[in-house]
Amino acid sequence: MTHQICVMGAGPGGYVAAVRAAQQGAAVTLIEKENPGGTCLNWGCIPSKVLITTAELFERFRRAADFGITLTGNVAVDMAHLMARKEKVIADQIKGLHKLFDHHRIRYIQGSGHILKTGVIEVPQPDGPALAVAWDRLILATGSRPLDLPGLAVDGRRILSSNDALALDRVPPSLLIVGGGVIGCEFAHLFSSLGAQVTVVEALDRLLPLPSVDAACSKVLQREMKKRRIGFMTNRTVQTISETQEGLRVVIGASPFNIAPTAKEKEPVEMFVDTVLMAVGRTPNTDGIGLEKTRVEVDERGWVKTDDHMRTADPAVFAVGDVLGPSRIMLAHAAAAEAQVAADNALGADRRMDYRAVPGAIFTSPEVATVGLTEIQAKAGGHAVRSDEVLFRTLGKAQVIGALAGQAKIVSDSVTGRILGVHIIGPHATELIAEGTLAVNKGLTVEDLVGTIHAHPTLAEIMSETAMKAADRPLHG
Ligand code: FAD
Repeated sequence: MTHQICVMGAGPGGYVAAVRAAQQGAAVTLIEKENPGGTCLNWGCIPSKVLITTAELFERFRRAADFGITLTGNVAVDMAHLMARKEKVIADQIKGLHKLFDHHRIRYIQGSGHILKTGVIEVPQPDGPALAVAWDRLILATGSRPLDLPGLAVDGRRILSSNDALALDRVPPSLLIVGGGVIGCEFAHLFSSLGAQVTVVEALDRLLPLPSVDAACSKVLQREMKKRRIGFMTNRTVQTISETQEGLRVVIGASPFNIAPTAKEKEPVEMFVDTVLMAVGRTPNTDGIGLEKTRVEVDERGWVKTDDHMRTADPAVFAVGDVLGPSRIMLAHAAAAEAQVAADNALGADRRMDYRAVPGAIFTSPEVATVGLTEIQAKAGGHAVRSDEVLFRTLGKAQVIGALAGQAKIVSDSVTGRILGVHIIGPHATELIAEGTLAVNKGLTVEDLVGTIHAHPTLAEIMSETAMKAADRPLHG
């Protein structure tokens, strides 16, 4: 029997689920209210990295003299050209996705879907009657959107969401970023490199305050941000923002998460800035999509609940990606991995999503990348833990490219040598984490990495050097 699979939302969760189901012979309909690619392609991973690529190039130009290059004349960023390049990268990827859908005979419908009843989704059309799509299995992949904080509403003009910040036609002279998580820190790097005076306000006690991010990475990042004159305040929250003639007046106070604020932290701080960027989290796209017509359960904030088989409480409905919220992993590749599990299970398999080795890549300066357990998590999990670090400055390649800041850390089981986690801050950390991901995923030991020859001179040597240290045979580190 051919299954009729309907996928709602064509981000990396939805479109990967659609392709995987189509590859197995299902009749697949993919519904998307905006452009395919979702947040990742249109307002997230891809546009932010296009802009960061230019920002980093610009910074390299500023350091041209260090590399023996004399630049004459003015080096400047042309924002209109940069935005046009960003749009072209997105448009090319969208074209590619449409070809992929055609290739897999996926029926793609543009419009905002809502569930009419079990087995039917309605998609209103601008120039005709609404389409009714029949399904026997539904995969929800409607993702999330930027969260507004009460009293600090985004206006798209001076108080921006991440979507707005990716479409600016000028670099604000001063920018205050509310939220020092992944998105806040990436934007801090971006706009500071482009020339803005940036300040980040974070409610918790460190930047990148995620359980998956090793505290040592936050410490190094904070040190490097200071060197680059990016201001940041931890344990603080923005209380009010008002428009004045001198710009936006921002009042910053002690964070409610800080139970024992110091006298300095209690002292309200007033700042005047040109622009504010809100990077305080996301909210699910689950309102108005007809979930009440199903047995799907959501939590108190609207995030969809599933088990690790990506099943919701309704046996005919699966869900993947950002719509599951922060209790899972809100990253594009996590969504795509969940999508493959959901599509297989919707077609009768019994697969389970494995979250043990989902890498995190953070495009700051230096870059941060993590996979597996931190030391704290490994200890809490009952492992006998050892943790070994090597600095990038010990590598020839780091000296060659003039990128010395940072380190790699391997968290391993001190009895078996098994690699439990890898935490890197440094040049190209987001590429280097792939080896750590393989190691954690396949249960490799530090001896496995020691016995693997790494090309010289490369940054990848940081992994073998750290593994050698973890095997008590340090070479340079
Ligand atoms: P989404 O990508 O949000 O896709 C959901 C889709 O559903 C959207 O296209 C939406 O229009 C559509 N939709 C919603 N409701 C309906 C409806 N009723 N009918 C039809 N369609 C509907 N992740 C990384 O892994 N790496 C990064 O470097 C990275 N950078 C990021 C930078 C920024 C600034 C942001 C905001 C996010 C970033 N992310 C990154 C996160 C990543 O974008 C998300 O984790 C990923 O897009 C989630 O995929 P998804 O398919 O679950 O949801």
